[in-house]
Amino acid sequence: MKRRDFLAASGAIAISASSGIGCSPSLPDNRHIVATADSRAKYLAGLLQELCVDIGPRPYASPEYLRASEIVLREMKLFSPDAAFDPFTVDRWSSPEDQLLTINSNPVTAYVYQNSPGTPPDGLRGTVRAANDSKSEYDLIDNDTGKKTALFFIESSPHARPRYYSPGTAKRINNVPAAGIGSDDAERMAKAERDGAAVEWNARIKWDNDIATRNVVGTIPGESDEELVFLAHLDSQYTAPGANDNGATLILMLMWAHAFSGRRPKKTLVFIAPDVEEAGFVGAARYVEKRKAAGTFGKIKYVFNFDSFTWGPDLVLFSEQKVLLQTFESIKTDLNIGGKVIRNDRDGFWLDAEPFRDDNIQALSISSEGSYVFDKCWHQAEDKPEHINAEWVENNYRIFTRFMEKVMDL
Ligand SMILES: [Zn+2]
Repeated sequence: MKRRDFLAASGAIAISASSGIGCSPSLPDNRHIVATADSRAKYLAGLLQELCVDIGPRPYASPEYLRASEIVLREMKLFSPDAAFDPFTVDRWSSPEDQLLTINSNPVTAYVYQNSPGTPPDGLRGTVRAANDSKSEYDLIDNDTGKKTALFFIESSPHARPRYYSPGTAKRINNVPAAGIGSDDAERMAKAERDGAAVEWNARIKWDNDIATRNVVGTIPGESDEELVFLAHLDSQYTAPGANDNGATLILMLMWAHAFSGRRPKKTLVFIAPDVEEAGFVGAARYVEKRKAAGTFGKIKYVFNFDSFTWGPDLVLFSEQKVLLQTFESIKTDLNIGGKVIRNDRDGFWLDAEPFRDDNIQALSISSEGSYVFDKCWHQAEDKPEHINAEWVENNYRIFTRFMEKVMDL
């Protein structure tokens, strides 16, 4: 932990205070916001407009992200009087200039991965060579030195999209810059290799150190101080307005919170909208560090991470907790709404839940699949409210409010 972060952590009284069950002011009751299917649809549409249209892409620690976090705080205050920002600093990556990839001077859309190194100021030139048998990756080879200087990954989607340049990716590809290219351009890349075509790529990036950002945290104190933690990230990729990833799911989480507002539930409910999910779960990790430093991490009994519930009607569950899985599946059967339930082999400490990994915590992470939406929208400019299926959101509202009640009885 850097000194500045330590000072931020020790000053973050709001987090430790709001996680206890001390003498809270009376709890505001805003159940009316989610009282009917109509009011829920209106709430969803209104917040999608504010977050994904009025603001749009909200990459971590950006001015757009900070504006979006104000909106989430405003909404959290409706159920949690001590809702607060959870501040921290992070080194911020951005791609401030136009990126350009050309084959024999003809442009091809490519997006440099988030947190990837960029190209030198005058770009990179060379020829491409398939990096593996499946032809899903191409190395850019400098013709003078014979060295690999960049990597282009052919996505499964027709259009280009960036991914996160993780430390694992960096290691695997020797820290060269990487970009995603759409599958519609796969044949052009194959032809460029066959022809030995001239390839040139310009994608300059910028790092700003120690930029202030924040998670948003709202708590509904329960009869018991045992905590259920809910996570739905607020940041988006720099290329995407993030309606599916993760706007609609974050709004769903706020709706569940409104449904439990106005009275003490059996257990304490902590709702977190973390920053920097899209670049290594940094916001969630900083939150966990602070809770550990404050000596309150042990109150957390369950962690639920919700990411992109609207890729399709089918929910994908990550968990090794039999009781949680059975509880969930029995609710699905009782209500008989929504699509299939698909179990993933991995445990529940997935994505933003990862930093919470602990033997005393039960974790469940959930995403979705089963429609055109993922390939059309993921990390792309098309991730707009018009590709949100409000019926799936409504189904998940009903399923998860029931689920939360059951989990509080466990
Ligand atoms: Zn996401």
